[in-house]
Amino acid sequence: MNIKLQEQDIYYGNLILVNQENPLHFNNIADLTPVSLLQSNILLKQSAVNALNSVLQEINAQNDIVPVSGYRSMAEQTQIFEDSLKENGAEFTQKFVAKPGCSEHQTGLAIDLGQNIPPIDFIRPDFPYYGICNKFRTTAPNYGFVERYGTGKENITKIAHEPWHFRYVGTPHSQIMHSKNLSLEEYILFLKDFNNNNKLVYITNRIKFEIYYVPYCEQINIDCNEDLIYQISGNNIDGFIITNWK
Ligand SMILES: [Zn+2]
Repeated sequence: MNIKLQEQDIYYGNLILVNQENPLHFNNIADLTPVSLLQSNILLKQSAVNALNSVLQEINAQNDIVPVSGYRSMAEQTQIFEDSLKENGAEFTQKFVAKPGCSEHQTGLAIDLGQNIPPIDFIRPDFPYYGICNKFRTTAPNYGFVERYGTGKENITKIAHEPWHFRYVGTPHSQIMHSKNLSLEEYILFLKDFNNNNKLVYITNRIKFEIYYVPYCEQINIDCNEDLIYQISGNNIDGFIITNWK
């Protein structure tokens, strides 16, 4: 089996890096789903919704943790950015609100969560490092989510520490990022050290995952072994991350 990839495929997938330097290329609204029946106005990609609910279920936190903000259209991100500029000023906004086109919320793979103690702040919900919220934080990587803007990573992510913002990247990437304490910027760079002849091997739950990077070029074909399952994601910059397992 052989998979052909095109340039535009760089901009799709669970591992796309969206930040100040790498804006979103397409508004990909396929697959957006309400996170729950009660929160029908908060949307994420279906796989992220499933993962979120699995974490909440495992730690029994459906009533203690509430989704605050999920998918945002370009118009919504623009509105939030402009409102914050007016209400909070430039310094605060630059720290906590991504420029329109550069917000992970526009991917449908990011969610802000709050501890369910009203009033819940829309831009900076409370999500402390203890109790049920921290249980969420440490369990989430087993289901594909990571805390995206960790402390000490501000110079890399260009976003202030945001304890409430989680990003779906899928397993096993979330587990690797969590165990190595890598931001998505660092993880995408880290994966560039691996290629078809030198794959990153990660074993979890007795499944052996192989991960590597393929730069985009005009004719790109991935040779697939029919015994393996393949997952391919663009990195939103210059190539693809291939993940395979049995
Ligand atoms: Zn957020």
